[in-house]
Amino acid sequence: FNIINASYAATAVNASQYPEGGLSEIAFIGRSNVGKSSLINSLCRQNGLARTSRTPGKTQTINYFRLTGKLPDESRLEFMLVDLPGYGYAKRAQTARSTWSKFIEEYWLKSTRLKLVCQLIDIRHPPMESDINVYQWLVEHGLNVQVVTTKADKITKGRIQQHIQVIAKGINMPQLSQDGRIITYSAVNGAGRDELLDVIRNILLK
Ligand code: GDP
Repeated sequence: FNIINASYAATAVNASQYPEGGLSEIAFIGRSNVGKSSLINSLCRQNGLARTSRTPGKTQTINYFRLTGKLPDESRLEFMLVDLPGYGYAKRAQTARSTWSKFIEEYWLKSTRLKLVCQLIDIRHPPMESDINVYQWLVEHGLNVQVVTTKADKITKGRIQQHIQVIAKGINMPQLSQDGRIITYSAVNGAGRDELLDVIRNILLK
């Protein structure tokens, strides 16, 4: 499964601006600077699609990209990649609710086509309180969450497993689903890309 086309589709700040068309949605969320834009660009193999290093405090929007994936039998699969604003600018502890604005909560609750949320966490550090709150909130609301650790090229291979354990424990991921559930990604060398695309394909074909 590979992405053969990706293009900007829409920007929304409320439900009336959600694009029509009924495509399944795969959303991406994470602390600002986690590497979300880099991961999206790497996934789509298109630099500049998602803007990297957004200025903190800049207007927050939901950005939709229309992607076309090609299956081994040459058939096509279209879906929406949804780029949600980064969270965690504020220094003090945050509950999930205060972590994102009203319109993000509206997105979670109203987007019936949302199939999977990829929550990005920097592999180098234990999860922050905002990461934990967001993960727990998503799980409690019955959303399908795929945790993806970013910037894997920044630590040595031998330490990756250890860091993943710390993150899985830190966000309180259920023991049962820990094995092989966290994807390790590097936008620099493409590690984890095939794995993440497989997860996305499986969800879309379900
Ligand atoms: P965003 O704010 O979550 O969209 O994060 P960006 O994609 O803008 O990345 C933040 C910073 O981390 C930038 O300086 C990127 O170059 C860097 N970065 C992102 N992903 C990776 C990665 O996989 N490896 C390395 N080494 N740096 C990365």
